[in-house]
Amino acid sequence: MLEITNLHASVADKPILKGVSLHVPAGEVHAIMGPNGSGKSTLAYVLAGRPGYDVTEGSVMFRHPGEGRGPAQQEKLDPGLRRDDELDLLSLEPHERAAAGLFLGFQYPVEIPGVSYLQFLRESLNAQRRSRGEADLSGAEFIKLARGQAEALGMDIEMLKRPVNVGFSGGEKKRAEMVQMGIMQPKFALLDETDSGLDIDALRIVGEGINRIMRSADKGVLLITHYERLLEHVRPDRVHVLQAGRITRSGGIELARDLERAGYVEAVA
Ligand code: ADP
Ligand code: MG
Ligand code: MG
Repeated sequence: MLEITNLHASVADKPILKGVSLHVPAGEVHAIMGPNGSGKSTLAYVLAGRPGYDVTEGSVMFRHPGEGRGPAQQEKLDPGLRRDDELDLLSLEPHERAAAGLFLGFQYPVEIPGVSYLQFLRESLNAQRRSRGEADLSGAEFIKLARGQAEALGMDIEMLKRPVNVGFSGGEKKRAEMVQMGIMQPKFALLDETDSGLDIDALRIVGEGINRIMRSADKGVLLITHYERLLEHVRPDRVHVLQAGRITRSGGIELARDLERAGYVEAVA
């Protein structure tokens, strides 16, 4: 569903990603772990299309699952014979990536003073609906949807009447991000350090949110994390280790457990 091939990217002319290749098939959750400074957030920003993150080599294809060939057959295809529903992600503007069904959650969520979270969510959802030729949700329909998603995350909807992320704790920001994901119903979610600053209960709630919203045969998740604990809730299908801009190891959840126990150097050596 998301196929990253030999991705090289630089920030301020400094090479950070040095040939990342990664394939997340539909129906799977993959985790990326790695020490500080290894390029995890850079990968997230490149996939988001953030200005200043320059791709110097490689490609990222985003394929809509559904009818037609399965992932195994798709893999065998010559790149020149790609299906029409396969998008060259890096050629799209950030808003086009969102309209295509990509959801990006960031390590440091933005604060937007003067705009309530509910306004922000409603605008985001309606912008996406318009880009698909669908009508806006009415105010009442939207509030019903938002209330349901907030309740599922154990969040009082009153919280979402406050300006976006202003004065939110780390845990509140991440719960609100899960509410956003539940409302947007993306096809693919890329979540960077969704567990940073979360206590044990919040970690479980966020993990359950990811499972509830994104665990489905036609969806995919790339979950970037420092810690193994979130992965015990989400149970990724694959775990990859990013070090110095390259994937140095891939495995199952036991790889995350090894890393937790032994640290990056020993586990990867
Ligand atoms: P991680 O998320 O794995 O901790 P980052 O992707 O944030 O790592 O950073 C990877 C490397 O890129 C680090 O060495 C960092 O200092 C560098 N880097 C990130 N952003 C910038 C920037 N805007 N300018 C210069 N270097 C940067
Ligand atoms: Mg970091
Ligand atoms: Mg980071």
